[in-house]
Amino acid sequence: MPAHPSLARPGGSPRDACGVFGVFAPGYDVARLTYFGLYALQHRGQESAGIAVSDDGEVTVIKDLGLVSQVFNEQMLSSLSGQHAIGHVRYSTTGASHWQNSQPLVRARNGDVVALGHNGNLVNTTALRDELVAEGVRFTGTTDTEVITALIAHEAEGDLLGAVRTAVAKIRGAFSAAVLSGDALVGFRDPYGVRPLCLGDYEGNPVISSETAGFDIIGARFVREIQPGEVVIVDAEHGLRSARVELEGSRPALCIFEFIYFARPDSVLAGRTLHECRQAMGRHLAEEAPVEADLVIPVPDTGIPAAIGYSAASGIPYTEGLIKNRYVYRTFIQPDDDLRQRGIRMKLNPLTAIIKGKRLVVVDDSIVRGNTTGKLVDMLMSAGAKEVHLRISSPPIKWPCFYGIDMATRTELIAANLSVDEIRRKVGATTLHYLTLEGLQASTGLPESQFCRACFSGEYPIAVPEEYAMCKLRFEGGAACEP
Ligand code: SF4
Repeated sequence: MPAHPSLARPGGSPRDACGVFGVFAPGYDVARLTYFGLYALQHRGQESAGIAVSDDGEVTVIKDLGLVSQVFNEQMLSSLSGQHAIGHVRYSTTGASHWQNSQPLVRARNGDVVALGHNGNLVNTTALRDELVAEGVRFTGTTDTEVITALIAHEAEGDLLGAVRTAVAKIRGAFSAAVLSGDALVGFRDPYGVRPLCLGDYEGNPVISSETAGFDIIGARFVREIQPGEVVIVDAEHGLRSARVELEGSRPALCIFEFIYFARPDSVLAGRTLHECRQAMGRHLAEEAPVEADLVIPVPDTGIPAAIGYSAASGIPYTEGLIKNRYVYRTFIQPDDDLRQRGIRMKLNPLTAIIKGKRLVVVDDSIVRGNTTGKLVDMLMSAGAKEVHLRISSPPIKWPCFYGIDMATRTELIAANLSVDEIRRKVGATTLHYLTLEGLQASTGLPESQFCRACFSGEYPIAVPEEYAMCKLRFEGGAACEP
C-alpha cells in the first residue's frame, strides 16, 4: 500500500522513485558499506530497503518494507559477509508496495543468480513482459524491475556483460540500476541518462551510487558519473570494464527535478552542487517576483536553499518559521480520521511568535495537487501572518512524469487545470509566483539540451506509447490511469 498522502513530504511535493548503491570490495564489510550508502540515499525511497551480498558466489538477499534503519539490524549485517554487494531503497512507481516488489529482485541465470535494484520507470514494460510470458517466463511481482531482471536472466547466451547490454538495448524509459551476480557487480544507466548514477572509489575499490552523497558517508571518492547508455562491470578477473549501448535518436535528458528537489542538496550532479543551484533558483525568484515583506521563510527542508537565495537577493531577512517533525518520513501506522484532518500538523508546526503580524515570503520547491499548499497557507494565516507571498522554485507542473516520479495524473495536477491566479485564490495566498522555465534553466548553469523538462513543457524526450495507460497498478487490476 502506498504511503498515506498525509505522510508525504511537508510541501506535498512529488515523490522520488528509488535509490541504488553497490560496492565491490573483497576484504571489506561490504554489507555495512552498502547499509550506510543506502542510509544516505533514504530520501529517494522510504517504502522498502534491501541488500544483496555475494560471498564466494553464494548470493544472499535481505529486504523488507520500511526504512533502512527499520529493515536492518546489527545481527543481520554481521551475518552478511561477502566480497560485493548491492542495495536499494524504494518508492513504488510501478507496482504496489508489497514485499514481493521490494528490491533487489533475484533470478537464476546459467546456474548463477542475478540480483537487481532499479531507479526509474520503463515505458515499454507491457510489451516486453508479454514477450517474456509468451516465451514461458513466469512473473511473481508486478514491477518493471522484474521485467529488466527477467530479460537479463533469460539471456542465457554469453557472459553477464553481454546479457546486460542486450537487455539495455531492448528496454525503453528511465533506468539506472545496480546488478549483482555470483562474481560481478554491474551498474548501468539508460541512453538518455534520466536518473543519475555515479562511480566512486573506496580505498581502491569501485562503488556505484545514485548520488554522490552515498560516497561521502562511507568516505569514498567521487570518480565520475556513469554516462548515459554506459554499462560498468567489475569482477575479480578483469577489474573494472565499461561498455556503451547506443540508441539512435537518443540525447541526454537528465531529470531537471533532480536539481529542484529530488537529489540531496549536498550531492553533485553534472558538475554542480545542488545546494548552489537551488540558491540560484531563489535569487532568480527574487528578481522575477520582488515583494515588500518582513521575513523570508522556507518550507523545510527542500525549500531552504531557495529561501536563502531569495533572502540574499532581496535583502529581506531569512528565518525559520515552520518547524518540521523530522521523524515523520514513513510510518506504517495510519493516522485515525481525526489526525488525518489535521494532516499537515503532523509534519509542520508554525513558530507563532516569529510570524505573528508579519508579511511573509514563503518559499517552497513545487506545487503538485495544491491541497497541502492550501493547508500550509491556512496554518500560517491562522498563526497570525499578515500576508503570505508564495514563491515556488519550479515552474508550474502541467504534465505527468512517465520516467519514475510519482506526481499524479493531469486531472490531479493543479497547474494543468487552473491559471496561476486561480491557484493563488484556491490556496489562499496573498501573491503567488512560480520560477520561470528560463529562470530555472539559468539556475542550473547548464544548457537546456541536457535535460528532461517534460513535466513543465510537455515535450517528452522518450516517446511514450499512446496506448500506454500510465498506472503503477496496471498489472494488479487497478483502474487505468489517464496520462
Ligand atoms: S517529466 Fe519531470 S519529473 Fe519526470 S523525468 Fe522529466 S523532468 Fe523529471
